[in-house]
Amino acid sequence: MATQDVTPLDVERIRADFPILEREIDGQQLVYLDNAATSQTPERVIDAISDYYREYNANVHRGIHQLSQEASIAYEEAHDRVAEFVGADGREEIVFTGNTTEAMNTVGYAWGLNELGPGDEVVLTEMEHHASLVTWQQIAKLTGAECKYIPITDEGYLDMEAAAELITDDTEMVSVVHVSNTLGTVNPVSELADIAHDHDSLIFVDGAQSVPHQPVDVEAMDCDFFAFSGHKMCGPTGIGALYGKEHILEEMEPYSYGGDMILKVTFEDSQWNELPWKFEAGTPNIADGIAFAEACDYLDDIGLERIHRHGQQLAEYAYDRLTEWDDVEVYGPPGDDRAGLVAFNLETTHAHDLSSILNDYAVAIRAGDHCTQPLHDVLGTAASARASFYLYNTREEVDALVEAIDEARQLFA
Ligand code: PLP
Repeated sequence: MATQDVTPLDVERIRADFPILEREIDGQQLVYLDNAATSQTPERVIDAISDYYREYNANVHRGIHQLSQEASIAYEEAHDRVAEFVGADGREEIVFTGNTTEAMNTVGYAWGLNELGPGDEVVLTEMEHHASLVTWQQIAKLTGAECKYIPITDEGYLDMEAAAELITDDTEMVSVVHVSNTLGTVNPVSELADIAHDHDSLIFVDGAQSVPHQPVDVEAMDCDFFAFSGHKMCGPTGIGALYGKEHILEEMEPYSYGGDMILKVTFEDSQWNELPWKFEAGTPNIADGIAFAEACDYLDDIGLERIHRHGQQLAEYAYDRLTEWDDVEVYGPPGDDRAGLVAFNLETTHAHDLSSILNDYAVAIRAGDHCTQPLHDVLGTAASARASFYLYNTREEVDALVEAIDEARQLFA
């Protein structure tokens, strides 16, 4: 279905699912526009967590008593649900992690330390989040490999001609962000996967900003690894997922050792458990894992195509309103070709000051480098302000944002 054909969201109904949206800050209605950092949590996801603690809190895979069995089944089925959500084959391909960052580090340590060496190259992009940039940079240092960066164009797209030159037979890993958390650019990850595979390289896609907002199919994308976080998609904090093609995960050694990830242990050696448990050492985050699956159900019930379209429309509207002013610079692609966020700067006001003034109007945005310091260097600024939208945001909230920004413009003019 083309995104423009989808039924619009019933935002008022959706808002009723999120108790926190009733919050007031100093007597004013909260306008929450920091969703790219962390999204809010619907009642049924909160219930999934409290149901677990109220009714079947027990360790998984360790007991044959009723509670442990119930917890084990729910936790294991949560892997199936998350796998289905992103088009993976099944639980064998989904490792639960603390977040996207831990998923990156899992691949960095478990795959990178063993597979990379002097002469090997990891190709990233200038718009990588620190989660991937710092991980590969440090793994490269430990192994003697080299990191290279695909540049961005003036409009904030990846320079695909440069990508085709940078990815060579020396490339062992291409690591690319699917949707930039600063520019709102949606990267052509399938095309990059084809280029990577033509050179026998693997590709890791950082899906932290795509999975919450658009339908994702890791098999159609043909990525080898894919990572995302529960807390950006109506799920809880402290849970995320690493997708890996089964045959690659099968061949990979774990890097975190202990209980649950083993099949057999003697004083001399150990055998690893089957996938995905071989990568989940110790007692996992059971409650949040189960609630992660509930968040997938919630988003699917509403429809990812509709959520996607809604976010795009709000971002386009915000982009259009902000670019009416000459003293505002908005980063990234045009309004009609971006994901649901806008990062910008006022000529007169530092992003932190702006964010603080907006807070006086109960408008929550993010200010800083958004964990993309090298990208901000490329953009020629140390920080930016960022408004990011989700399924419960409204055009009126964009208006509230713009009005509060206007107050700040006048204050500092
Ligand atoms: N990648 C991108 C594109 C992000 O936006 C973020 C979070 O902002 C991350 C990775 C890291 O996510 P987490 O902090 O949940 O590990």
